[in-house]
Amino acid sequence: MTREAMTVASLLDDATTRIGATLGLETREARLEARVLAAFAWGVAPAWLIAHDTDLPVQAQITQFGTLLARRLAGEPIAYLTGMREFYGRSFRVSPDVLIPRPDTELLVERALAHMPDDLAVTVLDLGTGSGCIAITLALERPLACVTAVDCSAAALATATHTGSILNAPVEFLTSDWFSALTGRRFDLIVGNPPYIATADPHLARGDVRFEPLSALAAGPDGLADLRHLIAAAPEHLKPGGALLVEHGYDQANAVRALLQATGFSHPQSWPDLSGICRVSGGILSE
Ligand code: GLN
Repeated sequence: MTREAMTVASLLDDATTRIGATLGLETREARLEARVLAAFAWGVAPAWLIAHDTDLPVQAQITQFGTLLARRLAGEPIAYLTGMREFYGRSFRVSPDVLIPRPDTELLVERALAHMPDDLAVTVLDLGTGSGCIAITLALERPLACVTAVDCSAAALATATHTGSILNAPVEFLTSDWFSALTGRRFDLIVGNPPYIATADPHLARGDVRFEPLSALAAGPDGLADLRHLIAAAPEHLKPGGALLVEHGYDQANAVRALLQATGFSHPQSWPDLSGICRVSGGILSE
């Protein structure tokens, strides 16, 4: 029996159907994923796939694509398969040691940039930098800033340092369990996207997050364990008038503002994301 040869288009159609059915994605999203995987497997630009849709991939190409597709169908996040994720217009290296950068975190970056005049050498600390997406973006958007980034995971720091050197971002990377390696150091601005999901949240057992480091996601029974610690310890590492900005869960804004207020931050504020949900809060340390 002769099997009809698969074209690039039919291979992608087939993968789209399987991704959609297995992962419960809409066709548009499933097609996008199929294209990203094929482009990565074959080392071509996604546009190449459209221009070559009637080409017949050779067996080696079919196998390379099939291996990645099988991993995706088993639930592995696309970003871990390709090792990259876009954030704020730049490509960041990712590995299972780091949280995959989310578009949500661009709100934190925007709020931080509003605190960083571009003609001043603002000192900034990024706590739990993970992929480095916040620290590296801030350093590149504000070339005069002095950005320090810490993480307790050496593997995460290796990933962030790698991206930092590829993008030529002047960031000081340090291994530190929150502030542990920063005794006596003070900054104008401290930012962080700490873990903030409640340990028992069923969200942790679904989709991409199952493959991400739990230490970057879960924080105690109410998800606030790390935020509580960071907010309490931040004043010792802020200059007078310095600011703290943190990302948090969709239902934590009130609790975070209360923690900021109780710790001596004046005018705690929260900012909504594009869907109107407050996901970033912060305050200024009273002088
Ligand atoms: N926003 C992420 C999620 O919901 C969690 C990120 C974090 O805990 N810092 O999956």
